[in-house]
Amino acid sequence: MTDSLQRFMLRGAPVRGEIVSLDAAWLEVVNRHELPESVRDRLGELSAAALLLAATLKFEGSLVLQIHGDGPVALFVVECDASGTYRATVKLREHDRPPSCDADLRDLVDANGKGRFVVTLVPGRSTPGRQPYQGIVPFEGHSVALVLEHYMARSEQVPTRLWLAADAQRAVGLLLQRLPSLGGNESPTPPASAAPIDDDDAWNRMQQLADTITRGELLRLPPEHVIRRLFWQEPLHAFEQRPCRFACTCSRGKVASMLRMLGKEEVEEIVRDQGAVEVRCEFCNLPYAFDRVDCTGLFVEGLSAPAPARPQ
Ligand SMILES: [Zn+2]
Repeated sequence: MTDSLQRFMLRGAPVRGEIVSLDAAWLEVVNRHELPESVRDRLGELSAAALLLAATLKFEGSLVLQIHGDGPVALFVVECDASGTYRATVKLREHDRPPSCDADLRDLVDANGKGRFVVTLVPGRSTPGRQPYQGIVPFEGHSVALVLEHYMARSEQVPTRLWLAADAQRAVGLLLQRLPSLGGNESPTPPASAAPIDDDDAWNRMQQLADTITRGELLRLPPEHVIRRLFWQEPLHAFEQRPCRFACTCSRGKVASMLRMLGKEEVEEIVRDQGAVEVRCEFCNLPYAFDRVDCTGLFVEGLSAPAPARPQ
């Protein structure tokens, strides 16, 4: 199955893993943005990583990973939820030279040491009382995997390793995590026949095995082959695969609210200059057009409902 995420556990030891593989769902992002190769690949890695992390959280809502950059890339954003839905975009600094194809993450976003990594958890509708959580950490590491590993070690205090790869066709990620102990809600009871494995040994061994995977193999092999190639001697328990997909949450109503926040004067000025307001969703590139009549309607008291969509 493509566009899927698979979770697994090492039987008898508190080590769990996940592998995510995006192809059609990744092309939805690739085909909507014209990006330099190095930027595209880092966005793919961040997308894979966000889906992996979201699947480890016992949390109803969405996870937003942002990297604010001071180099050629001003912002990377990936939003996803635990059900495997995601969207992603990049904001490039317009006047900078396009980055070279071998630029690493640090070259792209931390050229002057001012890169920041922001993690936001937005509670879902089923948890109305919960407040959004936001963690901001300084930029540490030259790859998406390292930045996230440092974040998980510092903020979540869960030893986590990531192996990520992306190109024009696929975005793939492997995650290993050391759990505090066996017996959590989602940990399967190890079968009685499984010999207890020394914790440190299992964690170190799984990492060493995963370290042998190459970028080429991650991008070329189906996820189940990656798991077999790395851990064929290990007693793994695999959970059901779950699908992943690209979906954008933008709507005409949200754009209308944004224009109202911008203010009547500003919107009127754009209409005067350009005849209409056209806003493109930064994630899915869908255009939303508001003509003079629509714009007037935005600011008529009591008319808070967005104007009906017009054919684009
Ligand atoms: Zn959109």
